[in-house]
Amino acid sequence: IIDNNDIKMANLSIVGSHSVNGVAKLHTELLKKEVLKDFYDHEPEKFNNKTNGIAHRRWLISSNTELSDLITGLISEDWKTDTRKLKELEAHRHDKAVLEKIGQIKYNNKERLAKFIKEKYDIDVNPNSIFDVQIKRLHAYKRQLLNALHILHLYHELLENPNFDMEARTFIFGAKAAPGYYLAKCIIKFINSLAEKINNDPRIDNKIKVVFIENYDVSKAELIIPAADVSEQISTTTKEASGTGNMKLMMNGAITLATLDGANIEIFDQVGEDNIVIFGLSANEVLNYNKFGGYSALDLYNSNRVIKRVVDDLVNGFIPNMEKEGRQIYDSLITYNDEYFVLRDMENYIEAQEKIDRLYKNKEKWNEMALINIANSGVFSSDRTIAEYAEDIWFKGCE
Ligand SMILES: *Cc1c(COP(=O)(O)O)cnc(C)c1O
Repeated sequence: IIDNNDIKMANLSIVGSHSVNGVAKLHTELLKKEVLKDFYDHEPEKFNNKTNGIAHRRWLISSNTELSDLITGLISEDWKTDTRKLKELEAHRHDKAVLEKIGQIKYNNKERLAKFIKEKYDIDVNPNSIFDVQIKRLHAYKRQLLNALHILHLYHELLENPNFDMEARTFIFGAKAAPGYYLAKCIIKFINSLAEKINNDPRIDNKIKVVFIENYDVSKAELIIPAADVSEQISTTTKEASGTGNMKLMMNGAITLATLDGANIEIFDQVGEDNIVIFGLSANEVLNYNKFGGYSALDLYNSNRVIKRVVDDLVNGFIPNMEKEGRQIYDSLITYNDEYFVLRDMENYIEAQEKIDRLYKNKEKWNEMALINIANSGVFSSDRTIAEYAEDIWFKGCE
């Protein structure tokens, strides 16, 4: 508890508590096997898992009334107090009229967001484009940088080949950086400079738009989430304890594009491999790199022209007005060997994004995937989480 005159707050908390839980299955296992192994070996009975949840009341019934009303019309109102009943929606997965209605509601929500973006930022976004959403605190481990570098990659592909085939995309970011977190602020600057360049380039015929929504908070989340087609959950595997944005987005019919990290794994288990797009390093691969080394970002940069092209753009003036910030990001990737494996996952992420593009071309199938996601969001209710806390933790403490 006391080490070199420091008080280790986590250690103090564990010793002083009767129960210690991780907030998703992978995270709980990492606590037991890696982070808190000695504590676990000493007092295994203290450790348990309580996967996080969110309130369907706020994130569906209140913020997406049209979808909520459609669901109630199809399966009655019982799902509102017992979200597991959403599963009954699966009976409608091949009903063309229902799938079309889900698509129409998504379109309406995209139009509402497009109107907000036009009024606030004077950017024209097309509600028929894929709304690709990454909204969460700005942090290196959450890898907004991977998303931004991929946008830069698409931009180059479009410039080099005007017939490059892709569905129009609107990339939407929302994120705050902690006051003293300089690299995070550099990444915000990078996204905004990239947006400025791409949004005003007539050569790419509006195929890509990039929007950074300021002051990300719950109210903004309630506006953005019902309008999302793609949910970006692309943290470096092992780093995201659970995530809850991932749950809010799936229950609004967004398709998750994810690493197998945090609760993304449990979303995968619920919806099955056909209704989610997975990419990137596994937890074991990341743990092995951290323990034994063996990763060289510089080697990757030197051997892969796609990676070299986007990394060079950080420092060659291609994107205006970010000289200092671009250098800082470049150094985090190359000089300091890319601690969050952004470049290591890049190729795999590009392929996963190509898969999203192909899937979106079949609207009926896409809407069916959306339905399956909504139908299997019941387990992520915070009512379930709180019931587990009450049963396994708070009540047990009183025995
Ligand atoms: C849900 C939520 C978060 C958490 O998002 P993650 O993607 O899980 O990091 C953060 N901020 C706001 C405003 C939220 O609504």
